[in-house]
Amino acid sequence: MNLLNNIKQYSLRFPKSMAARKPTGGTLTYKELESCSNSLACYLKNNLPNDKSPIIVYGHKDPYMLVLFLACVKASHPYCPIDTSIPMERTVSIIEAVQPQIILTTESLDIEHPKILSLEEIKSICASTERDTQIDITIKDEDVFYILFTSGSTGTPKGVQITAKCLDDFLSWLASMVKAHNINGPLVFLNQAAFSFDLSVMDLYTSLFLGGTSYLLDKETQLDFKKLIPALKGSGVSVWVSTPSFANLCLADRNICGDLLPNLKLLLFCGEVLTNKTALQLMERFPEAKIINTYGPTEATVAVTGQEITREIAQRVEPLPIGRPNPKIQIEIRKENGQPADIGETGEIVIIGDTVAKGYLGQPELTERFFSERQNGGQFTRAYKTGDAGFIDEEENLHYAGRLDNQIKLNGYRIELGDIESNLINLEDILEAAVLPKWQGGKIKNLVAFVTADLDAQESFDERAFSRNVKKQLKVKLPEYMVPKKIIRLDSLPMNSNGKVDRKKLGELIK
Ligand code: AMP
Repeated sequence: MNLLNNIKQYSLRFPKSMAARKPTGGTLTYKELESCSNSLACYLKNNLPNDKSPIIVYGHKDPYMLVLFLACVKASHPYCPIDTSIPMERTVSIIEAVQPQIILTTESLDIEHPKILSLEEIKSICASTERDTQIDITIKDEDVFYILFTSGSTGTPKGVQITAKCLDDFLSWLASMVKAHNINGPLVFLNQAAFSFDLSVMDLYTSLFLGGTSYLLDKETQLDFKKLIPALKGSGVSVWVSTPSFANLCLADRNICGDLLPNLKLLLFCGEVLTNKTALQLMERFPEAKIINTYGPTEATVAVTGQEITREIAQRVEPLPIGRPNPKIQIEIRKENGQPADIGETGEIVIIGDTVAKGYLGQPELTERFFSERQNGGQFTRAYKTGDAGFIDEEENLHYAGRLDNQIKLNGYRIELGDIESNLINLEDILEAAVLPKWQGGKIKNLVAFVTADLDAQESFDERAFSRNVKKQLKVKLPEYMVPKKIIRLDSLPMNSNGKVDRKKLGELIK
């Protein structure tokens, strides 16, 4: 696999070069990454059956997370990262879906499982193994490299299985885009997204693919300008990878500019709409840097299209285009009747090609609903129906035109509204639920839940206490960003003529 070969070569040629660094001091060199992941892979090979079963990696932004990821893969087991910000109930449900034989951790994880290795134990395994241990890497193109869980409409997250070939093909495309910008000096990638989100793959693995350094920004630093600004100042970041939401948050502080990040040459965005306003503001703040808007779902390995956003485009085209596809990918626009759309006509974006995932872990029916196989010149490739609306313009650029379902993006996070609704309905007293996004200035500002509840008629109803209590219960089940800002109790939910909840009517209540 190109990625693993490249890492090995860098570890031999530039052993002391940093593969990852944290603002608070943690570091990992290429030599350490290569030798520790080999040692841990040997341990895994010796202690697990050779069955390609997935391994959970639990932690946050410790540089050692990279060792754990690569060790799993080198031992022929896919890894599934779980970030510490995911609530315990959801963590447990992911672990139940994955059924790992071992869980590798960099942070403490207090759950019942026969084999959880702590960071100390892992480090001692690496230290006790012979230095320069070599390992016979047997990963094949179609073997699963990682599994990422994303919000599922039924209330339980679904695990997207990305193969080694998906990742290699994504990386060779993205790396060539980065290389085309001739960044002089050290390549340092900003890692903002948690490892359990696929945006992190864009910076982490492109960096390793190109011999760069990942600069790991933990959540606490991201949420506090007093920590963030000094962290960025000493970072040497040359490639910024984040959601547009995080860039917007940073734009709120004028100190975050070219003077703070003098090496910054490229800003890569993915995951949600990059607005013209944000792009133009970023051009003012970072006049030396180029901006690339990329598009794609987790199910097609991070991003499948991309385009440089010049000042001319940002001033002329609104909304911004999301560009042309990776040459290994084909984009089709399908109209509601299943027919291909003409240039300029809007329909569902279907992604066909080598970076499309192998489907959802252990969910054949769900996989069949969204994924299919296509024959392409005698060869089979996978296709994925994104649920995104879009069109292709006369210059062959793809444009995003919203969702065709109830999936949304809030502050860069992918959320199925049905996921929140199912979790609400499972709470005591809640009978029905409908969650709606509240829009402001063309962006989703927050979420509002409408519920009906089975409450004791004798008691007087305290709306604030009710809302507080519902949110408290939800926080145990869902990540913080999925908990609606407002919970409104109604006597009944309005229905439309199809007998479905009338979301339009509910939407009018929050305008
Ligand atoms: P995720 O799987 O979390 O990466 O989310 C994928 C979804 O994010 C896509 O299906 C789109 O709805 C949305 N998305 C990704 N990139 C963009 C973009 N550049 N512009 C608008 N929406 C995007």
